[in-house]
Amino acid sequence: MTQGPFASRLARMRQQAREYGADAVLVTPGPDLRYLVGYDALPLERLTCLVVPTEGDASLVVPRLELLAAQASPVAGLDLTLRPWGEGENPYALVTSLLEGCNRVALDNHMWFEKVVGFRDAAPHWSTILAGFILSSLRMRKDDDEIAALVNAGAAIDRVHARVPGLLRAGRTEREVGADIADAIIAEGHVAVDFIIVGSGPNGASPHHDVSDRVIVDGDVVVVDIGGTMPDGYRSDCTRTYAVGHAPADFVAEYAVLQEAQAAAVAHARVGVTCESVDSAARHVLAQAGLGELFIHRTGHGIGMETHEDPYIVAGNSLVLDEGMAFSIEPGFYREGRYGARIEDIVIAGRNGLIVCNTGTRDLVVTPAGGTGR
Ligand code: ZN
Ligand code: ZN
Repeated sequence: MTQGPFASRLARMRQQAREYGADAVLVTPGPDLRYLVGYDALPLERLTCLVVPTEGDASLVVPRLELLAAQASPVAGLDLTLRPWGEGENPYALVTSLLEGCNRVALDNHMWFEKVVGFRDAAPHWSTILAGFILSSLRMRKDDDEIAALVNAGAAIDRVHARVPGLLRAGRTEREVGADIADAIIAEGHVAVDFIIVGSGPNGASPHHDVSDRVIVDGDVVVVDIGGTMPDGYRSDCTRTYAVGHAPADFVAEYAVLQEAQAAAVAHARVGVTCESVDSAARHVLAQAGLGELFIHRTGHGIGMETHEDPYIVAGNSLVLDEGMAFSIEPGFYREGRYGARIEDIVIAGRNGLIVCNTGTRDLVVTPAGGTGR
């Protein structure tokens, strides 16, 4: 088993932790653990925990019955000690025994509260901080392999969108269409379906609608926002807007403005500009056309091993885009009671310009109305 990128990630995390004045970082199963050591551990009631003091040796505390799983992961090739614990032992006491002299301890942002309480009871003298402050600067900057992984995930979800016009027909319910999309997400190379939004007609006006039993009718605008997890843990997320049979006349002109807004933000985004300036690039176009009030969410979110992570593309975020930062650009507008529309691409600030991971057409795709059913 090769060390891959993990040894250097652990070293950089230690460096960051020192800068934050943390004595140690504790990481339980989830995206941070997988990012740091490549171990996609089961989140269980039994404690699995990566223990990294800023000075001293790192350990992975694992339930004895998970030891083989841990040894089969890249953890085996890393410079850290596996510390199995048996039923009846107190794993929290084991962790605190590895951190003698530590007072300021960073806990991963997704740690279950029962684990937090376990540590609070075992080490009441600790002051705890969120490890997210330490880890996000690492996780935000994707290396070349991660960039390739996101491009690959983007291509997979693009292939799913290419099938959507054949699935969206008058007479079918959102749920039926969503079930076919779920099958396609897996068939196109993902190992998990993360979310499926099929927002037809008035349901499209709710940005985080999922699916319902509403029957799609001729003349519906349909927002389809879908994503999944690839075998390497990286996520896809892409929105396209469709019309069934025909689009409402007033919608077509509004959609053209949205397309222009999305393209303006894509054209603006690059290394060296702020996150909030990318948001305003899209927002400005919609506002000029009188649609600003209908654009009710931020322009985007970072993506990687989580669908939503830093950096957030939102007013007030003055973070400057750096090489390797990956995020969505997804402006939309939402007319209550009628329809919604959104166009979403995942992009990466690359050293030679912006990498756009989703390449399917952003034009409004009008599908044949079709009959009822399949
Ligand atoms: Zn999305
Ligand atoms: Zn998104």
